[in-house]
Amino acid sequence: MAAKLVIKGVHVVAMGFANAFLIEGDDGLTLIDAGYPGKEVVVFEAIRWLGRSPKQLKHLIFTHGHPDHIGSAAAIVRETGARTYLHPLDIPIAQSGGPFRPLPPAPGLLRRVLCRIFFHPNERVAPVTIDQPLTAGEILPIAGGIEVTHVPGHCAGQVALRWRPGRMLFAGDVCMNVMGLADPLGFENLEEGRASQRKLTALSFDAAGFGHGEPITRDASTRFRNKYRTNLEDVHQERSAA
Ligand SMILES: [Zn+2]
Ligand SMILES: [Zn+2]
Repeated sequence: MAAKLVIKGVHVVAMGFANAFLIEGDDGLTLIDAGYPGKEVVVFEAIRWLGRSPKQLKHLIFTHGHPDHIGSAAAIVRETGARTYLHPLDIPIAQSGGPFRPLPPAPGLLRRVLCRIFFHPNERVAPVTIDQPLTAGEILPIAGGIEVTHVPGHCAGQVALRWRPGRMLFAGDVCMNVMGLADPLGFENLEEGRASQRKLTALSFDAAGFGHGEPITRDASTRFRNKYRTNLEDVHQERSAA
């Protein structure tokens, strides 16, 4: 199956280790993220599987500028003419196609190993032109409203996207959902990454999608609060101790 329904109006496009998401709006299709290089065919298959044509893809919004999220972007834009969106801090990387900023592994042996296998700062992808920089706090007038939250740490230009009509959060790589909510493979800045995980507990949403791992279809914000509440208490303790 090229695409799997998450909630009404959203399909996950599974591309091996990385996910992209298709949102069906009155204004056409929106794609969140663009997978590793060479995955454009999977996206077009998914679009056709929904009974649409690639030309109906109007918007391509990136959660951040890593090779597994922008890799097939240039090929997708060439075929669809979709308008592209990315946070300004990652725009130079997308428009040059790399190299990427170094990504120190997240705590733990497993992530140290996986980060080395999956992330190569010197990797190059086809450069993609970004049409519109994303601004923290803005609500894009796309598919009924997509709210932008800046969540740096894993990647300086990372954003989380909340699709308001469906109450679904696209968390990018703030965390992944492989055997439960867990850290991404690496953090450019661990402290910022932790702050971003906590930041998402303040948002209200029912479903959540991740760059890696299974989407959550309901009670997702409760799962986030349960997982990152400890962090929250740590912060309160740090503050009251100060
Ligand atoms: Zn990433
Ligand atoms: Zn990723």
